[in-house]
Amino acid sequence: MFCQNLLKKSDKCLLFGITDKLNIMMILQNLVSIIFPRTCSICGKTFQLDSTQNICNTCLDNIEKTEGLICHRCSLPLRDGGATCIDCKNNKNIYFDVLKAPYIYSDTVKKLIKKLKYLRRPFLSKDLGIQMAKFIMKEKIDREIDLIVPVPINWIKRIQRGYNQADLLAKEISKIINKPLYSEALIRTKYTKPQFKLNKKERQEHLKGVFALNKKYADIIKEKNILLIDDVATTCSTVNLCSKILKENMSKKVIVVTFARATG
Ligand SMILES: [Zn+2]
Ligand SMILES: [Zn+2]
Repeated sequence: MFCQNLLKKSDKCLLFGITDKLNIMMILQNLVSIIFPRTCSICGKTFQLDSTQNICNTCLDNIEKTEGLICHRCSLPLRDGGATCIDCKNNKNIYFDVLKAPYIYSDTVKKLIKKLKYLRRPFLSKDLGIQMAKFIMKEKIDREIDLIVPVPINWIKRIQRGYNQADLLAKEISKIINKPLYSEALIRTKYTKPQFKLNKKERQEHLKGVFALNKKYADIIKEKNILLIDDVATTCSTVNLCSKILKENMSKKVIVVTFARATG
C-alpha cells in the first residue's frame, strides 16, 4: 500500500517534470521512514508512517504535570500549601512577573531534554513546543503578551549544537499562538560551562554579566509584555537574569514559560 503511494507520488513528480519540490521532499521523507521508522522518544513505540509525532499520546499523558499546590509566582510545587514559596516571599530580586510550566522536571522529562539538547534531536522541539503552546492558550497567557523572546545560548555553543533549543521551542509556540518572535533580542555574551552541578548562589555568581540586550531591539521590547521561553526552570537563575535585562530596558511585564519546572 505504502509502496503504491510512493509510486503514485513519484509518477506525479515525473509528470510535472520533477518540479514539485514538496512532493520530492515527501518521497524522501517516506523513504527515510522506511529505513528508520519514526518511534516515540519515550517508549520506543513505532508510529504510523504518516504520523508527524515524536512522542506518543500515551507518553504525553503520562508526563507528570505541575498541578495542585504550587507557588503563585514561580510554580514551585509546595508540599505544605501557601501562596508563595520561601524564595519568592523573601527574595526581592525576582524580576519576572510569573513563571509557569506545564510539566514537572521528572526523570522522563530529564531524558527528553537531554535528547533535545545534547543528543541532536532538534525535532523533539516540535512536540514539546506544541504542548507549551496548548498550555499558554489554556492559561490565557497569549492574550497578555505582545511578543516572544527565547533565552539565548552563547554562539560557541550554538555552533557546537547547531541550534538553540529554547529558540526552537519559541518558534513552534510563535507559529501556534500567532505572536512575533525576536530570537536575537537577548544575547549571551560569555561562554559558560553546564551549571547543573551548581547551587542557586553559585549559579547566580556564574551567570553574572552573561546576558545583555541586543540594542537593535531596544525600541521593540520597550513598554511591551514579553513571553520569555526556556526549556527548563531549575533554580530560575537564568530566566530571572534574562527578565532583569528586559525590565532594565523598560519591558512592562515578563511572563516566563518553560516546558518543565524542577521540584526544588
Ligand atoms: Zn510513547
Ligand atoms: Zn516561588
